[in-house]
Amino acid sequence: MNLTEKIVKLKKEKKALILAHNYQRPEIQDIADYVGDSIELSRRAMQEKDSEILIFAAVDFMAESAAILNPEKKVLLPSLGARCPMAQMLTVDEIKRAKTHYPAAPVVLYVNTLATSKAYCDICCTSANAVEVVNSLNADTILFGPDRNLAEYVAEKTGKTLIPIPEWGFCPTHLLFQPEDVTLLKVEYPDAAVMVHPECSAEMREVADFVGSTSKMCRYANESDAKNIIVATEEGILHRLRKENPEKHFILAYQGAVCPNMKLTTLERLYSSLKDEKHVVKVPETIAKKARTALEKMSQIKS
Ligand code: SF4
Repeated sequence: MNLTEKIVKLKKEKKALILAHNYQRPEIQDIADYVGDSIELSRRAMQEKDSEILIFAAVDFMAESAAILNPEKKVLLPSLGARCPMAQMLTVDEIKRAKTHYPAAPVVLYVNTLATSKAYCDICCTSANAVEVVNSLNADTILFGPDRNLAEYVAEKTGKTLIPIPEWGFCPTHLLFQPEDVTLLKVEYPDAAVMVHPECSAEMREVADFVGSTSKMCRYANESDAKNIIVATEEGILHRLRKENPEKHFILAYQGAVCPNMKLTTLERLYSSLKDEKHVVKVPETIAKKARTALEKMSQIKS
């Protein structure tokens, strides 16, 4: 029995569900029960009734969110080192400091934050619903963290003032994309459509035909007439895009756009995690209660 077969067998025996982020390795996406972006995964985790174990092939904050939303289930993160550097950039002290300057401003936090920070926000958002979440608030000035590029994009779309917390939060992987690379690719593929994630810079958004989260990129790619599509987000998404659109040609805008944290989940680690039921992700109920309210409020916003 090979490793994949062993995982499938064990998954059934233990009533486990494997949820994988779009940025995971192809072999992890292929073995997962569900592949999606953070909003799709959190919705799936909230709907889950039958499984006793949720195994998150993703990074720390996603597994934490699943644990917050499913306190009665065992949530496993296959690699303890799979931590999102952007989530680490926002501390509770930073939020409290910003609140002293803008006491009336609601706090909107991207799900790419740790549970301790989520407990201090009014509502969460993902890159797929950030515009709708900000529009739902009866306020013109909003504290938004931790991604500055996403804050700028949402400010453009909503016309509201978004104060980024921290001042320069960013995703190291999405910051690697440069518009010059797109210009060069357009020489080779002049008819190509360009899809850009909102965690990329403003300069990248300017060269985009479409700006959106990975779930929205998948929808755009399915519906677009373009045969060639340049993609500016983490390279793992190409596996899903190619599977769903075998007749189209997807080109990564920068070959080095790999999130090392997402790639820490391997088949070996997934198997060992399932076998030994490690590493269990738990959030203390005092923090989870407040963070759950912010996540549940987000889930009520239509996007
Ligand atoms: S791609 Fe960026 S935001 Fe996503 S997990 Fe990696 S570092 Fe964090």
